Amino acid sequence: MKFNNMIPLEQFICDTCNQIIENYGDGAIEWISPSDENGKQLPPNSFRICHKNSNCYSIYKKVAFGVSRELVNFSDKMKIIELLGMIDKEYFPFDQNSLNEYIELFRRLTIPYYEEARQYWHEADNEGLIENKITCYQENNLEKIINRFK
Ligand SMILES: [Zn+2]
Repeated sequence: MKFNNMIPLEQFICDTCNQIIENYGDGAIEWISPSDENGKQLPPNSFRICHKNSNCYSIYKKVAFGVSRELVNFSDKMKIIELLGMIDKEYFPFDQNSLNEYIELFRRLTIPYYEEARQYWHEADNEGLIENKITCYQENNLEKIINRFK
């Protein structure tokens, strides 16, 4: 199922149930933040956005090293502060894979229309609409992708 007319940077698609998260108060961000046997922190992975309810909060409940934060911490002016804080080496030892995953989360939370447009990313890629990895994220290009495929 695809969603249309999502409110940019306000509504998100839950990575667990694939339904709309209507607002920040209903959402959470989860990831896995493992350590080795000596307690040394390893690169985080599996960043996801989900509903803040017992059905969708899966990593936090079921997996070792699961971490969960309420989505409301990433709203408004705190969003950039929180997101940049997590990139700090003191917080996470990112490797290239975990950084790529984190960038995807960052885009979903900060780029208007990206959350809706990413539903069509595969189709857009097939038609050459995301060849330029910078300009494809501009608002007008994301709206173009949405209008082309919705
Ligand atoms: Zn959900």
